[in-house]
Amino acid sequence: MNTTKIILCLAVAAIFQTSGCQTARRRWAIHDMDRPQPKVVEPGTASTQEHPGRPPSDAVVLFDGSGLSNWESTNGGPVEWKTTGGSIEVVKKTHSICTKDSFGSCQLHIEWATPAVVEGSGQGRGNSGVFLMGKYEVQVLDSYRNSTYPDGQAASVYGQNPPLVNACRPPGVWQSYDIIFHRPVFDGKKVSRPATVTVLHNGVLVQDNWILEGTTSHKKPAEYQPHPDKLPLILQHHGDAVRYRNIWLRELEE
Ligand code: MG
Repeated sequence: MNTTKIILCLAVAAIFQTSGCQTARRRWAIHDMDRPQPKVVEPGTASTQEHPGRPPSDAVVLFDGSGLSNWESTNGGPVEWKTTGGSIEVVKKTHSICTKDSFGSCQLHIEWATPAVVEGSGQGRGNSGVFLMGKYEVQVLDSYRNSTYPDGQAASVYGQNPPLVNACRPPGVWQSYDIIFHRPVFDGKKVSRPATVTVLHNGVLVQDNWILEGTTSHKKPAEYQPHPDKLPLILQHHGDAVRYRNIWLRELEE
């Protein structure tokens, strides 16, 4: 076979390969009426400072102010934090809390407020945290006119990535995180697909599909350790009286 023929054969093979890939990707014809209709979900409502909003109809409600039956202490006992006015508040010298159920990839909504009376500075001011799968922290901190290392301020992926902007509200005021998290996938001891996280802080995009470098840690480079596909969500006890309310999530299919 001469060179021209070989090039022609390769070109034809490439065309067939490309069209094969596209067919595999597009299982449905364009505008195919037989394509399954998306499930209907009744949207929720927005929160105000006075009242939390309503979750969407398919959400797993983790805390709506009515009780802590979905939570326990990370030391294995009952939750040691206090409930007050429809919210749950960190109590000093207790432990972090975690969900009784385990979750992987999810859309998480959570609202939080740092203490209205400001005490401390930097990392010592309204510190808590949302630990996805108990391992990957989106920092909770009073970052309203409070400087600290940028990869540790509110809405940072702790120790990895500062938020794109500082969208913090003043101390004592309710704030929200809407988080889209995709869990990591492991192949034996190695990560074959790192976790990703997108965060909106008070409706403002602050983490844009950040690819996690591993478990978030303090003064330690991130690295992955294999873990199950689903793990409890943890809210951090850091000694500051941070409050939480209106916590719900929607599990995402892989
Ligand atoms: Mg923290």
